[in-house]
Amino acid sequence: MFQLSVDQAVVEARAVQRLGLKAVLLFGLPDKKDSVGSDASDPDGIVQRAVRAIKSACPNLLVITDLCLCEYTDHGHCGLLKNKVIDNDATLERLGRIAVVQAQAGADWVAPSGMMDGAVRAVRRALDKAGFTHTALLAYAAKYASAFYGPFRDAAQSAPSFGDRRTHQMDPANAREALREVALDIREGADLVMVKPALAYLDVVRQIKDRVAAPVVAYNVSGEYALVKAGAAQGWIDEARLVDEILLSIKRAGADLIISYHAKEWARRHLTQ
Ligand SMILES: [Zn+2]
Repeated sequence: MFQLSVDQAVVEARAVQRLGLKAVLLFGLPDKKDSVGSDASDPDGIVQRAVRAIKSACPNLLVITDLCLCEYTDHGHCGLLKNKVIDNDATLERLGRIAVVQAQAGADWVAPSGMMDGAVRAVRRALDKAGFTHTALLAYAAKYASAFYGPFRDAAQSAPSFGDRRTHQMDPANAREALREVALDIREGADLVMVKPALAYLDVVRQIKDRVAAPVVAYNVSGEYALVKAGAAQGWIDEARLVDEILLSIKRAGADLIISYHAKEWARRHLTQ
C-alpha cells in the first residue's frame, strides 16, 4: 500500500484501466491537516486535483471519492469536534460541502465513510441543490468497528490521536443493526450500500442482499489483504488460489461490487490475455 502523488495516481489509473478494472476509489492525504480538515473542501485540495487529472486521462474510468474528514483533520476523527466530542450536525454541513466540491472536480460517486447520523440525506441534499443529481451516493451502511483496518490507518496516517471510532462504527456482534442502517441509508437516498470489512461479515452481506434491491458493495479491507500477503511471504499459502477463493466467497455471499487491494493482481490473472 502506497501513497501516490497526483501524477503517479494517473499512471496507476491508466494501468488499472488497461487491466480491465472499472473503477478507482480515492482517499486523500493533504500536506497540512487542521481541526476542520480544510483541504477536503478546497477545490485545489489533493483529492480534487487527483480526480480532475484521472478523469482527463481516463474519462471512462469510474472515479469514487471517499467522503470523510479523518484523513484531513489533525485530530484524526471523522467529524468536527466540540469539547472533544464529535459534533454530528456541524459535520453534516461540512460533508455536504465536500461532496459538492468533489462532484465539481468530476467524481462520479461519493462515498461518505464516517458513519455520521443523517450523512446520506445531508450529502444527497447538498448534491441535488448544487445540480449534481446524477452523482451517485455509495453509503458505508454497515461499517463495523474492526481490527482489520490497521494497515490502512497507518498508510493514510488517519488513526485518531485520542479516543476511537467505536461510538459511530458498529458492534461486530450485531447483525440486525446493519439491516436497520441499510434501510435507513436507502431511505435517505443511498444508491449503493456497503459492508465493511468483508470476510468476517459475509453473513451481513448475504442478509442485506436478500432484503434490498440496491447493489451491495463489500470492502475487502487492508487487514484482510495484509494477512494474505503475510501468509504468502511466509510460504504458508498459495496466494493466487487463496485470493480467488476469498473474492469468490464475497461474490457468493451476494456482493455486486467488491473493493479490494487484490484487484490489480486478480485482473492480471483473469482479465488480461
Ligand atoms: Zn473517517
